[in-house]
Amino acid sequence: MVNFLIFGPPGSGKGTQSVKLAEKFRLVHLSTGDMLRAEISAGTDLGKKMSSIMAKGELVPDEVVIEMIAAKIDSTRGFAGFLFDGFPRTVDQTAALEKMLEARGMKIDCMLVLEVGHDELVKRLILRAEQSGRPDDKDPAVIENRIDVYRSKTEPIIDYCIKKGLYKPVDGVGSIDDIFVRLSDVMKEFV
Ligand code: ADP
Repeated sequence: MVNFLIFGPPGSGKGTQSVKLAEKFRLVHLSTGDMLRAEISAGTDLGKKMSSIMAKGELVPDEVVIEMIAAKIDSTRGFAGFLFDGFPRTVDQTAALEKMLEARGMKIDCMLVLEVGHDELVKRLILRAEQSGRPDDKDPAVIENRIDVYRSKTEPIIDYCIKKGLYKPVDGVGSIDDIFVRLSDVMKEFV
């Protein structure tokens, strides 16, 4: 099993690239954002509790996503590994993921980081709002908050991964296909 994290600020293209990469490398794509949105559309109690936090662009509690991920890892069989998208998002989530993987004889093998500048991110998210209908894409103040939350709570994970030799930055500006090739070239070394 080979396990990848894909990182980058909101709007950096993690979701788009993850779907393509998971298919190419036979990985299970685990997106906590997608899982949470599925809870909201299914109208579950959890979804109801999380929707207002997500609409503000804040992070949902660590325990919620950690539990979701653990359940998915244990119910998945027959793949080459996992591609974690939007998780971990805090240093505590990272430690929890490492523990979870270690207990199952696995580890984080590589952290891909999509690099995109601030103005390009805002532009993409505003455009995406028109198609996705996501409430957290519609409001410019919420977009700014999500970028701030990424810088303050999620980016510290990068230093942690640099120290562990897992960090692989990738230029996230260009066509979807070009970025896919850049990411694939890095991932090929691990599979
Ligand atoms: P994006 O990367 O575009 O911000 P996501 O779909 O990954 O979007 O996440 C949307 C929202 O879901 C986040 O703003 C946050 O509220 C919540 N969320 C997703 N993953 C996590 C996580 N690992 N920890 C806490 N909150 C999360």
